[in-house]
Amino acid sequence: MDREKRELVIALAGNPNCGKTALFNRLTGARQRVGNFSGVTVSRKVGETHHKGWTFRFVDLPGIYSLSTLTMEERVAREYLASREPDLILNVVDAGNLERNLFLTVQLIESGRPRVYVLNMADEARNKGIEIDLEGLSQRLDGPAVFTTARTGAGVEALLDALAADAEAGFPRRGVTVHYDGHLEEAARRLMALAPSSTDAVDEKVHRWQAIQGLEGLTEESSGGLSEAWRESVRRERERLAKQHGEGAEFLLAAGRYGFIRGLLRETVRQGATKASLVTLTDRLDGALLHRVLGLPFFFLLMGLMFQATFTLGAYPTDAIDGLFQWLGQQVGAILPESPLRELLAEGILPGVGGVAVFLPNIMLLFLFISLFEDSGYMARTAFLTDRAMHAIGLHGRAFIPLLMGFGCNVPAIMATRSMEHPKDRLVTMLINPFMSCSARLPIFILFGGAFFPEQAGLVVFSLYLLGILVALGTALLLKKTLFRGLSEPFVMELPPYRWPTIRSVALHMWEKAVEFLKKMGGVILAGSVAIWFLQAYPREVTLDWNPEEKIAEATAHLPEGDERQAAIQEIEAAKAAAEQEQRFLGRLGRTIQPVFEPLGFDWKDSIALLTGFVAKEVVVSTLGVLHRAGKESDAESQSLRERLASSMSPVTAYAFMVFSLLYIPCLATIAVIRRETMGWRWPVFSVAYGLIIAWIAAWVAQAVGGWLT
Ligand code: GDP
Ligand code: MG
Repeated sequence: MDREKRELVIALAGNPNCGKTALFNRLTGARQRVGNFSGVTVSRKVGETHHKGWTFRFVDLPGIYSLSTLTMEERVAREYLASREPDLILNVVDAGNLERNLFLTVQLIESGRPRVYVLNMADEARNKGIEIDLEGLSQRLDGPAVFTTARTGAGVEALLDALAADAEAGFPRRGVTVHYDGHLEEAARRLMALAPSSTDAVDEKVHRWQAIQGLEGLTEESSGGLSEAWRESVRRERERLAKQHGEGAEFLLAAGRYGFIRGLLRETVRQGATKASLVTLTDRLDGALLHRVLGLPFFFLLMGLMFQATFTLGAYPTDAIDGLFQWLGQQVGAILPESPLRELLAEGILPGVGGVAVFLPNIMLLFLFISLFEDSGYMARTAFLTDRAMHAIGLHGRAFIPLLMGFGCNVPAIMATRSMEHPKDRLVTMLINPFMSCSARLPIFILFGGAFFPEQAGLVVFSLYLLGILVALGTALLLKKTLFRGLSEPFVMELPPYRWPTIRSVALHMWEKAVEFLKKMGGVILAGSVAIWFLQAYPREVTLDWNPEEKIAEATAHLPEGDERQAAIQEIEAAKAAAEQEQRFLGRLGRTIQPVFEPLGFDWKDSIALLTGFVAKEVVVSTLGVLHRAGKESDAESQSLRERLASSMSPVTAYAFMVFSLLYIPCLATIAVIRRETMGWRWPVFSVAYGLIIAWIAAWVAQAVGGWLT
């Protein structure tokens, strides 16, 4: 572009027969020259127009359906569009055949060049009864859009005005990203990481486009500057994708692009009744699942069923695993001689690790449902379903997907916010993500739910998830009203086609999560259990300010031999054990921090459990496992942790404890990822402080309301 001379080169790109040449003639009149593109016999027509002090030089390109297939004409058009010559792409689309025409549009968006859109054949579209929200389309496609009817010349003047205005403003664009299947996104990110690093957003887009084209298998002819190593990585990524999906990357790219188009059209186009016969199965499913009134309730019903099933189905294998660990405990007791090692195993490691291990089935079930949602295409639809509600809190529907992913794990969910273009929205979505109850919190809920609310455990768990969502949304509203003002602009929410999830991919996902969980048990949870055991077992010798022997003698003086006497002795011994525990390292620490939790009704053991849960939330359970196991070895019948807990607090306190666990401090890994993604300590610190305060208040309210109810 020559700003001084106010000259622009504008390339007309579009499918064959969308009316490019007719429009070109309208725009340029008789001022045309016909030549050839260099080196090939593809004709190139150029024409000039002067408008409002600007000179527009239009170039009519051969009609192309996409930038990926490679007929000679398509290659010429593709290379011309990728060259530095055009300043602007005028994307001509047939308004009566948007779905097909927009495929090229999506690729032009990805290529990142500024575009202006012409919806030609406006007359035909009108006759077909198609209503198009031009403003909505223009916002989502990130460029001015104008209706024309090239045959009559209607709209051509308005188009020239729009071009002049856009040039005058210097082509303001915010950038739009087309989002693909998770595996493809990962592959693209890995390839982008190979490109020379840069903080420039423009470079970032170029690298993404390069990676996507590579994955599409299009590096060969236009990859002059790319290294052999890069090509090799591309080849590997393509192979990996083919293995993961059983189909080539091209297929995933096409599915993603049609998903973009479907989402765009659903929001901006009302089809007349005439086309009703052509609906696909996906259209029909969308008609039901994205229903304006019923879609959202159905989504919540599904979520409710998911948590209920996670709880009830997971209970069967859970009991077996629980039994296994108790049996192991007994074996250790029987085989090993009395020693610190035996204690460490029987009272530290087994109850600690075992306390968490029992939830493996529940967690696998949760991920079963999540991967079914994801693979079927339903997950992407939740952005649509929740869009209106999300706008009410100042966010966009697309922010909902990272939130939903947070039910699995907040770490990848926070990374998934990278798909959000608006930095403020992205930050808000990151900060509210820890309130979405991740799978690490599930063991706490299932343990307490089962112990205190055996009849309604599923419902109780669901209520906590809902509470998490409400706090997240409330926080978003607060942040958007205070620190991060600004309306979120409309973006396209991709609607990929519905597909049957494959057993292979679902099983793989569950397996990955199971391995992750087992690793966590062998790592941080094991270490935590050992540490907690030591801290609660040492120092060995502690002095009490009362004498147990005397107490026993006193209490049993007038009792005859028998059950009653036995019970009295046991009671005093339990009191002794408890008093000793309080004198040990952990007990002292617990009593130091306990005043903070006193108003919430938590004792020092609960306080310690919460403290250790900072590392990873499963550790709350393993800590409780160790603390409630210790000192009770003499019990003849081995009670489960569930039974022991049930006698240690009231149901109301238990609920408050779950509420606190849900909301307080994200785990270390989450804090680390917030720090990495926001590049600083400010937001992770905010997240910790805010979470603690909210958790305390919410638990206090739960305690108060519960107390009032019962
Ligand atoms: P190209 O292949 O994109 O260059 O398309 P052409 O300009 O050759 O147009 C293809 C056909 O569509 C021609 O018969 C045009 O007369 C017709 N056409 C072009 N624009 C319009 C329009 O806005 N409305 C209608 N009804 N027909 C149009
Ligand atoms: Mg033509």
